Amino acid sequence: QPARFSGRTIIVTGAGSGIGRATALRLLSEGARVIAADISAERLAVLQEDGGSDRLVGVTGDVSLQADVDALFLAAGPTVDGLVNNAGIMDSFLPTAEITDEVWDRVFRVNVTSQMRLMRAVLPGMVSAGFGRIVNIASEAGIRAGASGTTYSASKHAVIGLTKSTALFYGPKGVRCNAVAPGAVKTNIEAPFLSAWAAERLGPIMQTTIPAPAEPEELAASICWLLSEDSPNVNGAVLMSDGGWSTI
Ligand code: NAD
Repeated sequence: QPARFSGRTIIVTGAGSGIGRATALRLLSEGARVIAADISAERLAVLQEDGGSDRLVGVTGDVSLQADVDALFLAAGPTVDGLVNNAGIMDSFLPTAEITDEVWDRVFRVNVTSQMRLMRAVLPGMVSAGFGRIVNIASEAGIRAGASGTTYSASKHAVIGLTKSTALFYGPKGVRCNAVAPGAVKTNIEAPFLSAWAAERLGPIMQTTIPAPAEPEELAASICWLLSEDSPNVNGAVLMSDGGWSTI
């Protein structure tokens, strides 16, 4: 079977851990040149060691900052074929009346603004090439309220709006833009829904309905499917990759 991504340059943010790391490694194994971005230089160094390929370029930076997005885009070179907007943070499961401006601003800058800025950077080149594949990582929290605090939920709903609107405007120009919505996944992300504190507040809403957490590699499979030519007619979709959690 030929490598699905040979000759392709694909940016993956938050590639130092969890879903981003599994996606970067899978893309590498399928022939891509991967531009791996993370705020943690240590995590990127481990990825580079494990990836062991000169097709892997690590870029340390904070994707919530425009200057770091510019540097990342520059490191990718003139042609970017794919983008996985994956970096994201949680919100300590705060309900609306307890949201601080600090949490709200940080979560929106990392989860939403960074995705917009990276798409804004890569889209002109994709349009001139007539080819682009974008996958934005949303969440179960992007379609309903029971999976996180209010800020995170609002940010992931925004990711879905960003994705659908981009799909609408750029689909006719050869760019497909889709979202993957993970359920619970075994990563390093803060998981307060598993804490006693959250259990007390949400009790049966969460704890009894959530399927066993998935491996990051299962999410990488969903993401790579949307990046590949195995999903030619899929644009503006939200792929629930959650073991069926959203059916409950
Ligand atoms: P993770 O914490 O294991 O990995 C995220 C990586 O992103 C980390 O290496 C971190 O250093 C990096 N990062 C964080 N902020 C950054 C920034 N400002 N700039 C650059 N890099 C930054 O988390 P994960 O679970 O793999 O999360 C990946 C995505 O999946 C996120 O968007 C998250 O919201 C989403 N998600 C995760 C779950 C889950 O259960 N793990 C569920 C639904 C959605």
